[in-house]
Amino acid sequence: MFSVTPVKDLVLIGGGHSHVIVLKQLAINPIPRLRLTLISDVYHTPYSGMLPGYIAGLYKFNDCHIDVQALANLAKARLLIDRAIGLDLQTNQVLCANRPPVPFDILSIDIGSTPGTMTVPGVQQQAIPVKPIAKFLDHWDKIVETVRENPREKMRLAVVGGGAGGVELTLAIFSRLQQIYGLHSQLPENHLELHLFQKSDRLIPQRHPGVSQRLQKLISSRGINLHLGETVTEIEGKSPHSIHCESGLTVKCDRLFWVTQARAATWLKDAGLATDDQGFILVNDYLQSISHPDIFAAGDIATMLNHPRPKAGVFAVRQGKPLAENLGRKANQQPLKPYRPQKEFLILISTGDQQAIASRGCFRLGPHPLIWQWKDHIDRQFMNNFTQLD
Ligand SMILES: Cc1cc2nc3c(=O)[nH]c(=O)nc-3n(C[C@H](O)[C@H](O)[C@H](O)COP(=O)(O)OP(=O)(O)OC[C@H]3O[C@@H](n4cnc5c(N)ncnc54)[C@H](O)[C@@H]3O)c2cc1C
Repeated sequence: MFSVTPVKDLVLIGGGHSHVIVLKQLAINPIPRLRLTLISDVYHTPYSGMLPGYIAGLYKFNDCHIDVQALANLAKARLLIDRAIGLDLQTNQVLCANRPPVPFDILSIDIGSTPGTMTVPGVQQQAIPVKPIAKFLDHWDKIVETVRENPREKMRLAVVGGGAGGVELTLAIFSRLQQIYGLHSQLPENHLELHLFQKSDRLIPQRHPGVSQRLQKLISSRGINLHLGETVTEIEGKSPHSIHCESGLTVKCDRLFWVTQARAATWLKDAGLATDDQGFILVNDYLQSISHPDIFAAGDIATMLNHPRPKAGVFAVRQGKPLAENLGRKANQQPLKPYRPQKEFLILISTGDQQAIASRGCFRLGPHPLIWQWKDHIDRQFMNNFTQLD
């Protein structure tokens, strides 16, 4: 008589940057007797590094989205298109919006984050949050269509949040709409009115002040209205909206994008997982929940207890391989391997016009077309991992 190891269920929630790498790794090195399920609320998951380029009209949808179904097929994973809305940690099941609970032996969560402070009065009803990205892109495509169809109508847009995402988004919006307006002569110069609101007194305050200065100068030189040190306290009225700030400043706009600091889905904490003060899952050096050893998390939704880092796609990408390895080790009851993220990291901030600024610690360079070409090369190389699947 010999015993057979039972089949285990590994369930992945969210097709984020870490999980697409996990799927690719498991396609290359399948784990015997492991049944793989991916629960994703989208068929095409966006690669954030190329998103501003998509908005600026420099990339097509397929350039910057990963086909989750094709990737799941390659990894021989079952794909459930649904939204996870809760966890039953007594019975180890994922609760979904549209189907019966999905049982798991091992669970991994990579669902990203959403912009915070959506509780500011009027924001929930009037603002367009940058995440979920699929919904945001639907809104953006409609705005582009409106501008194309009615180029003579003045458009007033606002972005709230002057972190890297908000700055790239503002510059990308400017470039794209200027391209469209540029096709029509005789339009007044200030036909597009664009505002960027930032709570602190400089843009991307986590980066060297020299980077903030360069971006502030660039934004002002393009005629974009930069409101530093302004906290938005209320959005009043349907389009046009009045944006009210703590200082008393009021600005009118037709559409408003919300790109404030990342926040976590509340159902994770509600389920009983250990989280940090902001509801992000606390994980140890193995990317394993500190309260539930069968549960792993990576990307924005995870906070590494010993190595907290900013919420950025670069960390989510880097966590992909160690996460895949530890999920395999957990399934095979082998010791897990620790992972330590880097402290300093390079960001390449695109400026919407095929240029970019590089920033790492005190080092900063650009804006320059060569830095954009470098960024474009890195991003396309990343995407090639998921577009050339044979
Ligand atoms: C405009 C913009 C530009 C940015 N540019 C950069 C950049 O250049 N470099 C950088 O490092 N970072 C950048 N960021 C930050 C980056 O977007 C995030 O840090 C990154 O996306 C985090 O990756 P993730 O894997 O954690 O989650 P995500 O990429 O958000 O992926 C999560 C996935 O899970 C799915 N999902 C979510 N909830 C559920 C659910 N309940 N059930 C099932 N599926 C679910 C989502 O649809 C999505 O497919 C940018 C952000 C913005 C807004």
